[in-house]
Amino acid sequence: MRTKLVAGNWKMYGNLAANQALLTRIRDAAADLKSRCAVCVPFPYLGQAQASLAGSQVAWGGQNISEHAQGAYTGEVSAEMLAEFGCRYVLVGHSERRALYGESDATVAAKFVAALRAGLTPILCVGETLAEREAGTTSEVVIRQLDAAINASGISTLSRSVLAYEPVWAIGTGKTATPQQAQDVHALLRARIAGSDSAVAQGLQILYGGSVKPGNAQELFAMVDIDGGLIGGASLVADDFLAICNA
Ligand code: PEP
Repeated sequence: MRTKLVAGNWKMYGNLAANQALLTRIRDAAADLKSRCAVCVPFPYLGQAQASLAGSQVAWGGQNISEHAQGAYTGEVSAEMLAEFGCRYVLVGHSERRALYGESDATVAAKFVAALRAGLTPILCVGETLAEREAGTTSEVVIRQLDAAINASGISTLSRSVLAYEPVWAIGTGKTATPQQAQDVHALLRARIAGSDSAVAQGLQILYGGSVKPGNAQELFAMVDIDGGLIGGASLVADDFLAICNA
């Protein structure tokens, strides 16, 4: 039985005062939650997350990393730097990074390797656009994105990773995949991994992301291959995030 994980992606929102209220609420509620939870915060707030959450049951992480360990890469942040701030997780390949910052499958795979090298647990995001779904290429797209990471780091490294299926058309749009649509893709991803290593496939947490709210989380998380959620907008509202963690 896989533990459920609910990870918040704050995106580029927040400020010190609002974060503090949110982190304190989540930390205080964490011991009684039904699932594990984590928050992925903007880089400048990693120290705040660490100070607020250290010793609690809530993990924290970043939303992106450089593929490099160090060097003359102005403006970049390495996985090793995140590790110094006690991060457990880092998102890699979020669709906003792929679409807005031109991250290719190869770049995402290099970031996946970099996260593992630093001892972080990468949350590898995969998902198809609306055009790709309508063209019937959803399976091809998500398997291609997954395979890029597997080919770069080896199948066994998925035992130290989390996978998130996030259909691009459902992120921040209010349109959620139906539980069956999400389950179908999660099952496909797990089957692909099982083809190489069934134990790794069985142990892997596969999160669903895309307009998850308190009102739809329970039916999504009830599906056999959905092991929790990656939550954007609703992770900024303490009551909503905590309700999702308990769904
Ligand atoms: C996300 O940012 O990964 C996400 C799923 O956003 P939202 O929950 O707002 O759709």
